[in-house]
Amino acid sequence: MSARVLIVDDLFPNVKLLETKLSLEYFDVVAAMNGPDAIAICEKGLCDIVLLDVMMPGMDGFEVCRRLKASPITAHLPVVMVTALDQPSDRLKGLDAGADDFLTKPIDDTALFSRVRSLVRLKAMTDELRSRAMASRDFGMGDPLAAAAAETGQNANILIVESRRAAAERMVSALSQHHTVTVEADPQAALMKAPEGQFDVILVSLDAQEHDGLRLCSQLRSLHRTRNVPIIMLAEEHDRARIVRGLDFGVHDYLMRPIDRNELLARVRTQVRRKRFSEVLRGAVQASMELAVTDGLTGLHNRRYLDSHLGALFGDAALRQRPLAALMLDIDRFKAINDTYGHEAGDEVLRTFAERVRLLTRGIDIVSRYGGEEVVIILPDAGLAEARVIAERIRERIEAQPFSVQRATRSIPVTVSIGVSVREPGDAGPQDLLKRADLALYRAKGAGRNRVEAQAA
Ligand code: GH3
Ligand code: MG
Ligand code: MG
Repeated sequence: MSARVLIVDDLFPNVKLLETKLSLEYFDVVAAMNGPDAIAICEKGLCDIVLLDVMMPGMDGFEVCRRLKASPITAHLPVVMVTALDQPSDRLKGLDAGADDFLTKPIDDTALFSRVRSLVRLKAMTDELRSRAMASRDFGMGDPLAAAAAETGQNANILIVESRRAAAERMVSALSQHHTVTVEADPQAALMKAPEGQFDVILVSLDAQEHDGLRLCSQLRSLHRTRNVPIIMLAEEHDRARIVRGLDFGVHDYLMRPIDRNELLARVRTQVRRKRFSEVLRGAVQASMELAVTDGLTGLHNRRYLDSHLGALFGDAALRQRPLAALMLDIDRFKAINDTYGHEAGDEVLRTFAERVRLLTRGIDIVSRYGGEEVVIILPDAGLAEARVIAERIRERIEAQPFSVQRATRSIPVTVSIGVSVREPGDAGPQDLLKRADLALYRAKGAGRNRVEAQAA
């Protein structure tokens, strides 16, 4: 996956070096030689990831990172801090500023590429979710990004898979102040436990005796219920090759031993926030997708849903030479109901109408509110005779019992007229099917209403 990488460094040779390396791997490169320029480039949306030098005159890397992470426009951009000295205090400061990762000069090529790729992949996913979640704002569901930005990354449920008791204890003591921690020494047992535990992060030792920790990571990545749980590998310097492989198949991060307590805390926090952030987005997307295809008053599918699915159903029926029927329903003299009992009562009638219709249809049928008091039902695999029977059943069910409204203080007699059509071999598309149902409905109205009429044979 290609991406635009912003290199921020006050020294031209450093910029040039990184630029050459990244260009050879087909990344697009943008450069800035000071903090304010870097922020401006990020705000304009001109990059996908930032490689940020810590030591710069004027605004240093920490400050640039803090500002990027504090602004809702740039907070989602992954920031990798490039530090001159491998000093834990620098990394801690960076993580506190919100950095997503670190590279230490001189920069190791494999670490550079794998880390950039892993973060770019993550950003691509987040971008997709963000743009889709924007739709939920249009439905007045609040701002999922603001909610996610307020996330502190604490009170997480953490699983540590580590067979060395002393190492496990040190991590527990560091993490348990803000989180709930479970330790599992045996990778096999961990694999059983992980899907049950609602974990926010899983830390996996790569060198548990006699077990390949990387295998556990890959199993966790492929299990449906743990696929989205961030994994952090605990590795030794000689594990570099395995770290790269892990990152390549989607492990989120790693920590080198000896594990620095503050680095552990900060990295776990970053992963927890990232997970919760995408959960908020995913939830918002789900809700907005449901809203987008559902009619708010009746809970039936809306016309958009019908329009987007009917083509495929129709094509499929034509291909398999199976019947397909359409019912077009229109409540009789509905305007008079509104005029006599009020619009609210009219709404109640529509809701009850939808409920009764739904009870008489199957799960595979599409029942959609087509217009004000019109409902279209698509019946896959139903021929004309069958469709007429269903239509007649609905007509009877509506007429049989008056609709009670206004908390059952009134009851209104309601009837419906229904036009029935079926797919014909000569039909050019679903519009022909609907057109015939509409004509049949028109005849039902003309013939006195409260009737079912089918298309002319
Ligand atoms: P016909 O038997 O010929 O179908 O007569 P009708 O009165 O049902 O038909 P017409 O199309 O003239 O009127 C439909 C009415 O449905 C007009 C409109 O105000 C009302 N309507 C449309 N949507 C809604 C709604 O969501 N709620 C309510 N209460 N009324 C609605
Ligand atoms: Mg009507
Ligand atoms: Mg009408």
